[in-house]
Amino acid sequence: MNQEKIGKFIASCRKKQKLTQEQLAGKLNITYKAVSKWETGKGLPDASIMKDLCNILKITVNELLSGELIDKNSCDKSAEIKLLEMLKQKEEYEKKLLFIEILLGSLCVLPLITSTIIVGFVEMEEWLSTVIILTSLIPLLVALPFAIRIEQTVGYYVCKHCNHKYIPTFKSVFFAMHLGRTRYMKCPECNKYSWNKKVTSGGNGND
Ligand SMILES: [Zn+2]
Repeated sequence: MNQEKIGKFIASCRKKQKLTQEQLAGKLNITYKAVSKWETGKGLPDASIMKDLCNILKITVNELLSGELIDKNSCDKSAEIKLLEMLKQKEEYEKKLLFIEILLGSLCVLPLITSTIIVGFVEMEEWLSTVIILTSLIPLLVALPFAIRIEQTVGYYVCKHCNHKYIPTFKSVFFAMHLGRTRYMKCPECNKYSWNKKVTSGGNGND
């Protein structure tokens, strides 16, 4: 795919629809910097918003990825198939990551449960039971940043107030209260706090 050609094509379609970069960004709930990145050929629109983008620009996904208008009678569907494959791959990748997260979490809680049972049933000196409990916490502490990293980077969070989609910072995910994958965080767009739902490319994430 020729990013520069696609970028120029996006810019010309946007102008044809009489939209500024800011207006287009607003319709897609993204920053205008992202739009400018595409148009200068420094990046491609995320697969998850490609369809919305094409609707606004009144072009097909095939045309977007080819970087030009395509004769309606031509039946070259290769770009569309490519996109669907891309989406599918991303979806599977995200599923895998989320599975790893759950596995990691379960594996790390196991030693803690085991040691709690041992300390509860076996008579021993207090210092020893403390050492056992603290040691069993180590895998949890080591794995926690990885689990949060996965949580942060897979898919998006959606603001309840303005529907803005965003990827939060590691810190904000780390400190945010959560119910399953829904987290109480500040939206970078409207600056309001709400319970932000996690959305992956496969659709809604399960809470
Ligand atoms: Zn918001």
